[in-house]
Amino acid sequence: MAPLIACPHCDTLHQRLDPGSRGLAACRCCGTVLYRRGWFSLRQWVAFGWATLIVFAVAQGFPIAQLSVQGLDVSLTFWSALRLCWDRGYYGVSVMTGLVGFWFPLVQIALTVWVMQALAARRLPPDLARILRLLQRLTPWSMAPVLVLALLVAIVKVAGMAQLQAGPGLVGFFVLSFMMSGLGRWDAHALWREAEDAGMASISGAHGRGAVCAACGCVQAQPASGHCLRCGAAMRHRRHGHDLEVWALVLAAVIFYIPANTLPVMRVQTLLGSSSHTILGGVVELWQMGSWDLAVIVFVASVLVPVTKLLALSFLLLRKHVDDSRTQQQRTRLFTVVEFIGQWSMLDVFVVVLMTAMANFPGLSRIDVGPAALNFGAVVVLTMWAAMRYDPRRGWDRLRLARQAEDSHAR
Ligand SMILES: [Zn+2]
Ligand SMILES: [Zn+2]
Repeated sequence: MAPLIACPHCDTLHQRLDPGSRGLAACRCCGTVLYRRGWFSLRQWVAFGWATLIVFAVAQGFPIAQLSVQGLDVSLTFWSALRLCWDRGYYGVSVMTGLVGFWFPLVQIALTVWVMQALAARRLPPDLARILRLLQRLTPWSMAPVLVLALLVAIVKVAGMAQLQAGPGLVGFFVLSFMMSGLGRWDAHALWREAEDAGMASISGAHGRGAVCAACGCVQAQPASGHCLRCGAAMRHRRHGHDLEVWALVLAAVIFYIPANTLPVMRVQTLLGSSSHTILGGVVELWQMGSWDLAVIVFVASVLVPVTKLLALSFLLLRKHVDDSRTQQQRTRLFTVVEFIGQWSMLDVFVVVLMTAMANFPGLSRIDVGPAALNFGAVVVLTMWAAMRYDPRRGWDRLRLARQAEDSHAR
């Protein structure tokens, strides 16, 4: 029998079959993509992973841009921007952007390559389960592609203030964002499936059914120990009683959203004087500079995305009654959107950190991080966290229960 795979959004069980060359398999109940067939073999993916690690080193190690004003030069790397923020006392912003822009992507690439290599060599490390649990937790917080977009916005904003020459780090970041979205296909579940196919891990569904491990995706009978047979992660049938937790996170995000928009996100000092900018002010400024395309991107990422996330989560929490599978499908799709757009609102926080380093010409210009940046970062973290705690499968549970009740009534 083929291994079983449970849809993460509606819990429907499927047999995992080969989707054919370059094909993908989607859930027949809610449409969520369950798995794809990659373009490369596992050995080719290992090489791709190593290449991603090298590109990461180039992007982070070489200058992104060289800026000069009246004979003064500044060489920008992401690390130098983090360092400058730290030195000026913006510890919160520096640590937050450092984690999601540097450390998490680095650990994500390194762990993925390590496990892929072990799978290709058919020798799994003894603590594979722990490594993959870490990878699973970390991946949503790894935001290298958002950082790339932020670089673009920051460069356009600073272009008028200083002479700018692109460095190898910029090319590195662009290539990195594409390579990381390719490598991102290898999440913990995909790696477990590969181990399953190679006969190195127990087959999902071989030990009964009725429960699914969220950490490794293994379908099994509800274990008496409360821990997954395959990876040892704690297993709960559903995230029961977590509606209150999601509400609390949404509410906290709303509270942080107010100072995030009313307080200045950055302060600019030049020879002409000093000024403070809010997030919306920054959008207007980009528009007035003629970069309407970037103004739209920043508006979407900083205003539309967080508001959409908050409204969508509140709607999903309030509307519990489901009449038919169509409505539930739409709600599942809405949740998928909330999950997908999650990290993009970090854009403005990255922009501020980068601009701080880009305008650092002592005596001529200086940009400082405003109090809104940390508040805005908190909104992003809280809304992403809320989406992770929300369980879309419970809506489908209610629908199934209603149908069972109808059936028994008809009999
Ligand atoms: Zn589904
Ligand atoms: Zn497991």
